[in-house]
Amino acid sequence: MKLSKLATEIAESPTFALNEEARLLRERGEPVINLGIGEPKNKTPIAAVLASGAKLTSGEVKYTPPDGLPGMKKAIIRYTEENYNRLAAAEQVIVTNGAKQSLFNIFYSILNPQDEVIVIAPYWVSYPEIIKMCYGVPVIVTPEDGTFTPNFAEIERSVTSYTRAIIINSPNNPSGAIYPSELGAKLVEFCERKGIYLICDDIYHKLTFDRNVAHPAWEFTSRDIENSHVIVVNGVAKLYGMTGFRIGWVVAPKDLIKVMTNVQAQTTSCVSPVSQAAAEGALNGMQSVVEALRLQIENNRNVVLQEMKSFHGARLIPPQGTFYALPDLRAFTNSSVETAKFLLKKALVVTVPGREFGMEGFIRLSFAGSVKDVTEGLARMRWALDPTSPNEIYIGDKKLIRDWL
Ligand code: PMP
Repeated sequence: MKLSKLATEIAESPTFALNEEARLLRERGEPVINLGIGEPKNKTPIAAVLASGAKLTSGEVKYTPPDGLPGMKKAIIRYTEENYNRLAAAEQVIVTNGAKQSLFNIFYSILNPQDEVIVIAPYWVSYPEIIKMCYGVPVIVTPEDGTFTPNFAEIERSVTSYTRAIIINSPNNPSGAIYPSELGAKLVEFCERKGIYLICDDIYHKLTFDRNVAHPAWEFTSRDIENSHVIVVNGVAKLYGMTGFRIGWVVAPKDLIKVMTNVQAQTTSCVSPVSQAAAEGALNGMQSVVEALRLQIENNRNVVLQEMKSFHGARLIPPQGTFYALPDLRAFTNSSVETAKFLLKKALVVTVPGREFGMEGFIRLSFAGSVKDVTEGLARMRWALDPTSPNEIYIGDKKLIRDWL
């Protein structure tokens, strides 16, 4: 069968693949713990349920304008004013099918073949793949000092005449790092001077711990949305745990939004009005749901830190936000794929190999689930890898003895 070279070179989404493997194991009755996928366990906020329910019962579920329903855009404009201190015009906003489509639309709309985008490791798995799908070239910059904080000089050195954008994600998936304000300020100034875009994937911006704040890029410029080179991506997936509604959005200069709207109109047409109503409901509803989710996640993060203290061989830079931790497990093996396979086989714990995020030897753990799963998942990991841990463990009702160390 003849297939597209470009399409066949796109990697499978490792998190979805692992999720499927976990589901199949669970179907066979295995007590699997999934620390793979980044998905909070909360129920949909009631304001979102009521708003989307009302839309459904109206029977008026039709195409919407390709860039989004006016009410949803209004809610985004208000969100932008409250959280970013910027007044967006409706023409500077597009609603998309998840933040993933926001990113696709952006790259498709700004890249010519062979144009480059700077991606900072560790990075979210999909960035390089989406860039490649848009005929671009991801240029990976890995902090040389072994931290998760990029160094401005290293980024600057990687910029060429082909560079069209730098993408940042802070708080960061997979490391949980929040980039320092000084770096944000330098990047904004640099991008304005060079005329390249600074794409800010802000999907985790409210999920921060210990009173840390992820300062938005617009804070570092006096320019308005139209004249700054900042593009902001956000969505409801992580903010409200509304992953299945598939709602994201972009705030950017009008010309870019216009091109993105045409791209979207010719691909997915528009975003489902039921989902837009839900997201509008969430944005306009009680915001205490966000804080409740954040508190639960922070508590889970504390459990991870506590469990990690006694995990010999694992080194962890404490996550400052998101619901991911990226421990360095190179003391056990350099191959993160081997480690992830071993953990699944011996301990029935799903993790994601760091290799997928540009960090070989590391393993990404999601602590978005229940505190019970996080606690037990980490105990099982310790049992599987750490020779100083007790060598007996119960997995389900089975007592297992570690006999391979
Ligand atoms: N950006 C980052 C950094 C993410 O982690 C994710 C989801 N895992 C997304 C974007 C995509 O979000 P959505 O579900 O809204 O497409």
